Amino acid sequence: MLSGVAEEKRAGRRQRKRRLDSVDTVAKPPEIGQELFVGLNSLRDTCSSRHHSRDFAFAHAHYLRSRVLAVGLIFALLSPLWIVVDALVLPSSLLKYTLAGRMVLMLGLVGLLLLALVSRERIRCIRFSAGMLLALPAAFYVLVLVMLPSDELKSLVGYGFIPFLLVASLSVFPFTLLESFLAGMAMLTLLMFSQVMDGSWMSGRGVESLWLLTSLLAVSLAANHFQLSLLLRLYRQATHDSLTGLFNRRALELHLEKIQAWQREIEGRASAGKAPCSVLMMDLDHFKRINDTHGHSVGDTVLRKFAAILLGQTRKHDCAARYGGEEFVVILLGSDEQQATEVAERIRYAVESHEFRNHERQRVPVTTSIGVTQLRQDEPPQNAIKRADEALYRAKHEGRNRIALAEMPVVEGGAA
Ligand code: GH3
Ligand code: MG
Ligand code: MG
Repeated sequence: MLSGVAEEKRAGRRQRKRRLDSVDTVAKPPEIGQELFVGLNSLRDTCSSRHHSRDFAFAHAHYLRSRVLAVGLIFALLSPLWIVVDALVLPSSLLKYTLAGRMVLMLGLVGLLLLALVSRERIRCIRFSAGMLLALPAAFYVLVLVMLPSDELKSLVGYGFIPFLLVASLSVFPFTLLESFLAGMAMLTLLMFSQVMDGSWMSGRGVESLWLLTSLLAVSLAANHFQLSLLLRLYRQATHDSLTGLFNRRALELHLEKIQAWQREIEGRASAGKAPCSVLMMDLDHFKRINDTHGHSVGDTVLRKFAAILLGQTRKHDCAARYGGEEFVVILLGSDEQQATEVAERIRYAVESHEFRNHERQRVPVTTSIGVTQLRQDEPPQNAIKRADEALYRAKHEGRNRIALAEMPVVEGGAA
């Protein structure tokens, strides 16, 4: 009798353990080395922009642009003030060398500010203006060093700090480590050049300056790393759904607007051809029943697996998003209605045939209904979403686990 009770308890414990093992929503205890792993992973993201998504590249460039405008303005305002300082501390014979250079520098900075102002969505222009913001004062310094007679260089009060100022400025920008490192190396070279020119190369003072600049560069690189990884984390939190890892609704809507801009650009160029784009709206069938029968955690697991199926069935440049609770949207770039219907059928079949499991490893049948429509470049993106949603409603009404094509509105001029 007693052994029977003990056996039952053991079986109960085994059963509970199995249940817990299969629930992947339960937070796992922290693993040893996890911190290091997270650190190394974020280092990969901050080293270069190779692993950044195109969407983040835009957000990053936007942030970089605001920094270029702020620092550019500070430099442009400091420049004329520096003329006053020059007039106070430099012998009048040297003023003629620096005054012209300062004017050119100031004009260059104003030009850069204007370039950054008009380059709202142009990533390359923003990066160029950020690079030039550092290169211009550096070029000014080189020019002064080359033009001035060497015996008078020592009286150039305050100019030697330019490489230090520029290396310190690196920390203000969300540069990748590679970009900052290259800029830092250029500043070190500049400092060495200035030391050769003023005769302090390999002297005690010269070595001390080089060491100081290297230390400053290390601090700036650390600041870049933390700034960029924070930016990436905030971006991911703001644009991704935490349960499935897909884009969230807000990010999807922004994405649709960008796609339409891309469509207009492509179709504006007659030779570039057409740029169709389709929208799939999906809803899991009788999902509430899954939650009610198997529990919320199984429901969550189904949502995550469903998201994985969507990613598996679409291409890298398509966009899959969680629109609401158990509603998802996929944007298919370069696909017309017919191609989109084929993809929708593939997704429908993949979901129907996937073996979703509950905690007891029993199969949970899951199906999805899908509404399909094509995005028109001249309509508010919300209209396409609404059309896909109406088609989805029809698919539900006609019996679920099926696809319905939205009716395209008739446009003035005849074309749909
Ligand atoms: P239909 O086929 O008509 O779409 O029926 P349905 O049961 O799927 O639709 P209904 O709108 O009645 O239920 C949706 C359910 O989705 C209700 C809600 O509790 C559940 N849900 C929403 N978000 C989540 C989530 O993040 N996790 C889980 N587990 N369930 C969720
Ligand atoms: Mg549903
Ligand atoms: Mg729903």
